[in-house]
Amino acid sequence: MPATVNLCWLRRDLRLLDQAALYHALKSGNPVVPVFIFDSDILNDLEDKHDRRITFIHDTLEEMQKQLARLGSTMDVFYGTPTEAFQYYIKQYDVKAVFTNIDYEPYATKRDAAVAKMLKEKKISFHQYKDQVIFDRNEVLKDNGDPYTIFTPYSKKWKTLLNDFYLRPYPTEKYFRNFYKQKIKKIPALRTLGFQAGERHFPPIKVKDSLIEKYDQTRDFPALPGTSHLGLHLRFGTVSVRELAERATHLNDTFLGELIWRDFFQMILWHFPHVVHQSFHKDYDNIKWRNNEADFRRWCNGETGYPIVDAGMRELNATGFMHNRVRMITASFLTKHLLIDWRWGEAYFAKKLLDYDLSANNGNWQWAAGCGCDAAPYFRVFNPALQAQKFDKDLKYIRTWVPEFEELTYAKPIVVHEDARKRVLEVYKKALDRP
Ligand code: FAD
Repeated sequence: MPATVNLCWLRRDLRLLDQAALYHALKSGNPVVPVFIFDSDILNDLEDKHDRRITFIHDTLEEMQKQLARLGSTMDVFYGTPTEAFQYYIKQYDVKAVFTNIDYEPYATKRDAAVAKMLKEKKISFHQYKDQVIFDRNEVLKDNGDPYTIFTPYSKKWKTLLNDFYLRPYPTEKYFRNFYKQKIKKIPALRTLGFQAGERHFPPIKVKDSLIEKYDQTRDFPALPGTSHLGLHLRFGTVSVRELAERATHLNDTFLGELIWRDFFQMILWHFPHVVHQSFHKDYDNIKWRNNEADFRRWCNGETGYPIVDAGMRELNATGFMHNRVRMITASFLTKHLLIDWRWGEAYFAKKLLDYDLSANNGNWQWAAGCGCDAAPYFRVFNPALQAQKFDKDLKYIRTWVPEFEELTYAKPIVVHEDARKRVLEVYKKALDRP
């Protein structure tokens, strides 16, 4: 007879502490088996077979498996489609309920609806919880019930709604005895998934209070260790956003503001899913992009002849990280100086960023291109040289990534700033001029 259990389906919440779905599962009355599915549909789409994010997930699961083994339990990791996975789990166990945390992306919403339907036919209940944001979907709305599309009023409302309730951790550890006890199950090797280990440039999970305290003074300078580097951990839920937001409320309002941006873009994606393929402001889809492939390659490879742009792209290619200030400069350069569709840049970042997240990446690319919900005005064209002077005055960041930038061997600028500026203003104006 298979054992009666409840499953906790892990996705963007790879931790055992302060985890909403796990907490509810452990309190549900049946022993709990945590499960993770390496979704073959997603994995097959990843071109880079050394993708560092797969390595990160794999390492994290191995670590969690050790923690569970110490509790006499195990995670059950499956490779295949979610439907195949649940067919397997239903044979393996007498499953009464599945607990999981909400994933707000359009693909995930569809996937979860299909799984919920399949489970319902088998009389298995499906429970979803908010875990990866402080406020989701309809929790922060305008007084008339509409979603916000401008950040500042959203952020004000967000702050007025915040109280201890939203920051309190879920004390999962109190119920660890309720994990289902069984022999450890093997996690499929990276090879089995069609991958090989990627480089492990993974930032530490612990961030000092002193860094967060000084965040507003240091965050704009790419040569300084002035930002948290927690993007990857927030993306995969190896840290709890509640714990981080709670610290931010005591330590630094600017840092809290960044976590609010994160909630904001997740909310925008939920309410306006057209942004995945189209500009938030649809008239920006009239822009006649140049989309020159050779220029795009030079941008990707960090060979534009603009040192701050090249430094950023090389940092991204080498480490999977790029500093936020430099993300803004490189994104502005691609869309405005090279007149290349923001979707090309968005897709390139999606391939490379360790902290890649659809809502934040899409929201910020649309912000940079000027077509987003609360975007930089289109006539604001970053001057890369001035940006470098302001934010990398001692050239420390540039020297790290583009050591040859003062030599004759260094690439000639791909465009002249003033010409590019004139060109983009004309092209945007033409697209946006309404009769
Ligand atoms: P910190 O400065 O320490 O901030 C803490 C956390 O706040 C971040 O980890 C992140 O979760 C959140 N955050 C900070 N800034 C933003 C922002 N502008 N929008 C949303 N959340 C934010 N962030 C991603 O998490 N994933 C992406 O795919 C992504 N793509 C981007 C693309 C472009 C073109 C730009 C301009 C920005 C993008 N960002 C993205 C936002 C931001 O650059 C990163 O979150 C940040 O650089 C990550 O470094 P950190 O963890 O040290 O951030």
